[in-house]
Amino acid sequence: MRSVEEHQRVVAELIAARPATTTALADAEGLALADDVTATVSLPVFDNSAMDGYAVRADEVAAASADHPVKLPVAEDIPAGRTDIPTLEPGTAHRIMTGAPMPAGATAVVPVENTDGRTDVVSINAPTAEGRHIRRAGEDVAAGTTVLRAGQLVTPAVVGLAAALGLPELPVIPRQRVLVISTGTELVSPGSPLQPGQIYESNSIMLAAAVRDAGGEVVACPAVEDDVAQFAVVLDRYAAEADLIITSGGVSAGAYEVVKDAFGREGDQGVEFVKVAMQPGMPQGTGLVAGTPIVTLPGNPVSALVSFEVFVRPALRTAMGLPAAHRPRRSATLTETLTSPRGKRQFRRGVFDADAGTVMSYGPPASHHLRWLASANCLLDIPADVSEIAAGSRVELWDLSAP
Ligand code: AMP
Ligand code: MG
Repeated sequence: MRSVEEHQRVVAELIAARPATTTALADAEGLALADDVTATVSLPVFDNSAMDGYAVRADEVAAASADHPVKLPVAEDIPAGRTDIPTLEPGTAHRIMTGAPMPAGATAVVPVENTDGRTDVVSINAPTAEGRHIRRAGEDVAAGTTVLRAGQLVTPAVVGLAAALGLPELPVIPRQRVLVISTGTELVSPGSPLQPGQIYESNSIMLAAAVRDAGGEVVACPAVEDDVAQFAVVLDRYAAEADLIITSGGVSAGAYEVVKDAFGREGDQGVEFVKVAMQPGMPQGTGLVAGTPIVTLPGNPVSALVSFEVFVRPALRTAMGLPAAHRPRRSATLTETLTSPRGKRQFRRGVFDADAGTVMSYGPPASHHLRWLASANCLLDIPADVSEIAAGSRVELWDLSAP
């Protein structure tokens, strides 16, 4: 049997980064920058007022006080957005709003709170100092400065900075486009009535959500019956648009294993089916279909999602240059005694209490108990050579609550 680490390597090697591109700001959030970004304008763009108030020559109001206010005629009104730059003549004030350009000759702004607020002749009742309440051009960013680095994650603040610098797009590593195919003749879309022997199809929507959660883009997530011809039709239709194909089901040891039947016949090249020493998720496969990478996941919902978590998510994020390719690993004190199959690395669903530093398993180890995974916040990572862990032991876990 192949080890988890070895299969992680195989999947990671299969998934290649797409060439860098430029993307509109609105679509860039969550991606990694493909290049450094250099400012072509300064921020602030021009000297402007930090307060609503009056632009003055500071020396003219140096003696102002509540008892002896300085009175100045208000010669101009400068709202934000005024595009001409008036000159402040000696012995006058300009009413000015936050963000409005400073008039030529002004050396300070007196906040409106320190005045009577009039628009004909203003009484200024507190002194100010040279430079007070002026935001200087370039004090945040000087034009020509490299403000963002290649590899940095595009966050809301990053798109905000780019927009403030007047950039309509950013250089990014694009999202991986993933085709998710579920297989199984027993599967019925949620919302339709079930016949005896049928179940609701849950892997396609679940894996598509996991792809998006990992930062990827879903090309389509069709479900097909255990029918090689149907499977081939779906592949023909979508595979060319995908950077990665993920299938679920049809890879175990039974009959009617459509994914194995489609790729695993004698003489077929490209897809290799292996057993990985883990629980859940033992039957796995990888390869290329007409040049497109494919990862075949087992069909049991818990196996499918845990396999995605262990193999696909880190590889997708790495290919997209995203930080935290792996979920944070933590250790905690186990509150109960657990057994684990020797020879298999076990990923048990768990509930981790970060404050108490404890973790308990959540639900049985069987791979069809999706309910517990839905409310778990971690995967307990129990090494292959361990068959029992006593209550009170330290255990490793993958924190699913963190990206
Ligand atoms: P398989 O790997 O195809 O043998 O499937 C293993 C188990 O998972 C079976 O009980 C299937 O019914 C179930 N299963 C497979 N695919 C799905 C799916 N897309 N949604 C829900 N259950 C599934
Ligand atoms: Mg099946």
